[in-house]
Amino acid sequence: EKVDFVPFFGHIIDRFEMNRRENMAFIRELSKQDLYVWIDKDKITQVLDNVISNAIKYSPKGGTITFKALPGSKYLQVSISDQGLGMPLDTVDKIFDRFYRVDKARSREMGGTGLGLAIAREIIEAHHGQIWAKSQEGKGTTVFFTLPLISQKRRRR
Ligand code: ATP
Ligand code: MG
Repeated sequence: EKVDFVPFFGHIIDRFEMNRRENMAFIRELSKQDLYVWIDKDKITQVLDNVISNAIKYSPKGGTITFKALPGSKYLQVSISDQGLGMPLDTVDKIFDRFYRVDKARSREMGGTGLGLAIAREIIEAHHGQIWAKSQEGKGTTVFFTLPLISQKRRRR
């Protein structure tokens, strides 16, 4: 269905913000322009739930989570950044593989199956977008994804 992305994203962030730990801060840098995308809302909610839960789960000492949604010429770009544990450079592409978890011992304590981001990648690719991450061990992680924008044709007159 056709979705105005910024308010949709805002409601998901609100839900996490209501339950946020005191040592975490949320920052939003969301486009003021209307950004329309054609998405399966439940599926994209599942992607955002996992990426945001990861940002929180892998930030045991707290910190800031920054949410962005900004337009490119053809794609909307979403990013979610945390100041958590991060990960080594050579693992950052593997986190989208099924059952991959960065540090077995660390991850076991944290709970989870290692499927969240593999499912997220399937969903984003089914929407003709891309998903990737940047991370620095001990500094934090940013997960990015894109979704094709519905081009806003000017009304005929
Ligand atoms: P599940 O999502 O299935 O409950 P999970 O969170 O372990 O389990 P994924 O969401 O697929 O699985 O993430 C895979 C692995 O990538 C995680 O186990 C973790 O090691 C690493 N990871 C994901 N997001 C972050 C993050 N924001 N900071 C640090 N590591 C992360
Ligand atoms: Mg997860």
